[in-house]
Amino acid sequence: MTDIVSASETSSLRGIGGDLIIMGPPGVGKGTQAKALAQEHGWVQLSTGEVFRDHIRRQTDLGRRVKGYLERGEYVPDDVTVRMVRAKLEDIPPSTRVLLDGFPRTVEQAKALDRLFGEMGRHLGGVLLLDAPREALVARLNGRALAEHRADDTPEIIANRLDVYEEQTRPVISYYEDRGLVKRVSGLGSVADVSARLREAVE
Ligand code: AMP
Repeated sequence: MTDIVSASETSSLRGIGGDLIIMGPPGVGKGTQAKALAQEHGWVQLSTGEVFRDHIRRQTDLGRRVKGYLERGEYVPDDVTVRMVRAKLEDIPPSTRVLLDGFPRTVEQAKALDRLFGEMGRHLGGVLLLDAPREALVARLNGRALAEHRADDTPEIIANRLDVYEEQTRPVISYYEDRGLVKRVSGLGSVADVSARLREAVE
């Protein structure tokens, strides 16, 4: 597991325009934080997981296509995911700042995003990485599964989701680190603690 860097060591994204990505392993609290951050700053939050869940609820063709992947804790194929993100981004003017939440999750998706941004005249300003040690994530995810009876959170599926993240999504962090875009923020502690660290990283 990569070292966690405290907020005080995290340089700020202040003054950097462009869209942002928020990344982090399952259970780190990424969705909650992304929503609050986007609301606070008036950015558009684009959560691929939420869009997929909405399609499943509405029983659309896309929903039927992706349901099994979400239930098994597997990634939806890149081509399906990228097509959906393209359609969403096409509806957002380039002047509106977007917070991408849960995308990209593979290097293939990151490369596709570069191409999309190039076509659309968008610019990537930075990547916020919320991180926490695996033991803390397992404890949180198991606790949430018990509390919410979530079908996608059995112990086996939880372990699988963390493994998939390590194998497929860790390389995305390196992809952006090579471009000096990543700001690491510890996801340990209360929601308020993490919010405060994120605020410091972006303001
Ligand atoms: P999330 O709400 O971000 O945890 O996403 C929930 C689920 O949606 C994931 O476990 C995947 O099955 C699917 N998903 C969300 N974003 C992506 C993505 N970028 N690539 C592939 N699958 C995704």
